Amino acid sequence: MENRIRIAIDGPSGAGKSTIAKAIAKQLGIDYIDTGAMYRAVGYKVKNCGIDPEDTEAMRAMLQETEIDFSEGNIILDGQLINDKIRTEEISKMASRCSSRPEVREKLVQLQRSMGQRKSIVMDGRDIGNNVLPDAEYKFFMTASAEERAQRRYDELIEKGETAEYEQVLEDIKKRDHSDMTRELNPLRKAEDAVEVDTTGMSIEEVIAYIRKEIQQ
Ligand code: C5P
Repeated sequence: MENRIRIAIDGPSGAGKSTIAKAIAKQLGIDYIDTGAMYRAVGYKVKNCGIDPEDTEAMRAMLQETEIDFSEGNIILDGQLINDKIRTEEISKMASRCSSRPEVREKLVQLQRSMGQRKSIVMDGRDIGNNVLPDAEYKFFMTASAEERAQRRYDELIEKGETAEYEQVLEDIKKRDHSDMTRELNPLRKAEDAVEVDTTGMSIEEVIAYIRKEIQQ
C-alpha cells in the first residue's frame, strides 16, 4: 500500500496527545485510534464487573467476552457507547492498573495492530512507536512538564464543573507517570526514531503546525 501513512504519537498523561492526534487525523481525513480509551474501556468493565485486575483467570474470562471498537471516533464497549463514562479519575487509575496485566496488553495490542493494518491512521498511546506499530511512517513523542500537564487537567476538571485540587491532580499525574514508565511490559519510553515534541508553553495550533511540517502533509 503505497500511500498509507501511520502516525504514532506517544507520551505521558496530559501531554495533549489526544487533542493533537484527533485534529491531525481530521485535517488529513484519516482515522484516529485512541488506545488509552481502549485501556479505559477495560478498566471500566473491570470496575463494573467487580473483578480483581490481579486475578488472571477472571481477567482472561472477561476479556474473552469483550468487544472493543471505534465508530466515528466513539469508543464502543460490547455494543455500548461509553465515551462519557471513562474520563473519571477512578477509571484513569483502574485503566493504569489493568494496563500492566499481560493478558490485557496481549488482547489490546493485537486489536490495535489489526486496526492499523490496511489504512492510514493516527494512533496515540504509550507504546505505539516501540511496540504496536514499530514500522509506523512517522513517530512523535509528546511531553510537557508534570506541572503544566497537571494544570491542563485541573482546568479541564473545573470546566466540567468537578471539584479538584491542583496538588492532588499533580500527585496523581506523577504517580501514573511512574507506573507507566516502570511497568515491566511495554513501559512508556520514547522510540529511538521518534521526534520529541516538548509542548510546554506551546499552543495547540503551534503543536499541530509543528507536526504537519514534520510529516509534510
Ligand atoms: O491516555 P490515557 O490517559 O487515556 O490512558 C489511560 C491509561 O492506559 C494510561 O495511564 C496507561 O496506563 C494505559 N495505556 C497504556 N498503553 C497505551 C495507552 C494507554 O498502557 N498504549
